Amino acid sequence: MKRRRAPVVLKFGGASLENPARVARDVRAVLAEGAPVVLVASAREGVTDLLMKALARPRDRGAHRELVDALRRRHPGLPPAGRRHLARLRRLLTQVERSPRRDAALADRILSQGERLAVHWLARRLAEEGLPAVPVEADHLGLITDNTYGASLILFDRSGPAVRRGLERRLAHGELPVVTGYFGRSLEGRVATLGRGGSDYAAAGIGALLSASRVELVKRHVAVLSADPREVPEARPIPELSYEEAEELAQFGARVLHPLTIEPARASGITLRVRSLEDPSVVTTIAPPRPGRRNRALTILRPLRLLRLRVPGGRQRPGIVAEVSQRLSAAGVNLVQLYTSSALLCIVLAPHEIVTAIRALAPVTREAAAMLEGPFRVALVTAIGDGVLDDLDRLPADALRGVEGFSATPRALSLAVPLARGSRVLRGLHRALVTEARA
Ligand code: ASP
Ligand code: MG
Repeated sequence: MKRRRAPVVLKFGGASLENPARVARDVRAVLAEGAPVVLVASAREGVTDLLMKALARPRDRGAHRELVDALRRRHPGLPPAGRRHLARLRRLLTQVERSPRRDAALADRILSQGERLAVHWLARRLAEEGLPAVPVEADHLGLITDNTYGASLILFDRSGPAVRRGLERRLAHGELPVVTGYFGRSLEGRVATLGRGGSDYAAAGIGALLSASRVELVKRHVAVLSADPREVPEARPIPELSYEEAEELAQFGARVLHPLTIEPARASGITLRVRSLEDPSVVTTIAPPRPGRRNRALTILRPLRLLRLRVPGGRQRPGIVAEVSQRLSAAGVNLVQLYTSSALLCIVLAPHEIVTAIRALAPVTREAAAMLEGPFRVALVTAIGDGVLDDLDRLPADALRGVEGFSATPRALSLAVPLARGSRVLRGLHRALVTEARA
């Protein structure tokens, strides 16, 4: 059998879909390289937000009706299969109006309609541009996820055969599949979304399943920058990141990428490219690390809270760290950071988790006579980059003033600083590690 060229997966986010002629041009450019293309699309801009708003008002029939009308207007010229999705959305919202409590799987099914409408609309527009586009809905394709509605994970082994078969068959017929991002089908056979921004993750996942030669994520404005430009005006694009750097960036709050996007690409060694629709020269390539390349990016997470637990005779109480983290996780608290010395344990978490956390730790404070201090209001400023520990001596003294906690790995160095100093520390570190280091 003739070996076909590995496909390229192109993913267009809501805003970058607005101009289908532009999408068509990008597709043609890749086809001209001789590679087949699989498109992945998220909902049109603002659509998922509108669906979420409707779900937040479960009894509001009027608002639901208006929503369906608004979505009809946002997707002009829908073919019949797409129009059926509008009718289905109306019925699903009626179910919401009638059901006594929130059903997470029903909510996910409703949220998935945004991507379904988008692919039917886009495929039609691309067909008008002369491309052989066919809409593909990921649950029907066989993209299988776990049952965590609202934040599900793709199950790669389960998804592999069907996704490959379905897409390769279409490619073999010379078609251009336009696949929904954001959701798949759960193990129990219902629609499950991958969390906000999940179309990037879906695209990377589909790329991994197809052994794509690369996955391109097209965003309207941004590529990956050395910091959020609203915080740090001199932030600049980062042309190349290792998988691990990108993963840390997403985890520490850089909003350009869904945090799970990198893993499937890393595991199968596929290059990810994040590029800006407006300015094609702004590209970030995410690939295996290259020796000699130095990247630094800064993120800030806030507002956060820090709790300090003083454990008398710390070292004589083996297992205290495990006990604290077990109690917190049993109570469903997500730790952002945990710092320990022998007698002091610092816990960083989101403000809304504080009450639960303090309750969960009550037995420890009683039994171990530990003392709880705080909560202190903090921001977590993180410098990310392979080899970032080499920069310890560049940290400006001002950034270190009042630091409440410090954690470091060879790739990420985080400071928990008083909330009011967050912006200043962020800018100071950016100056020292990015701006001045390159000058
Ligand atoms: N439409 C979904 C969202 O807005 C998924 C995505 O855009 O990636 O979160
Ligand atoms: Mg979206």
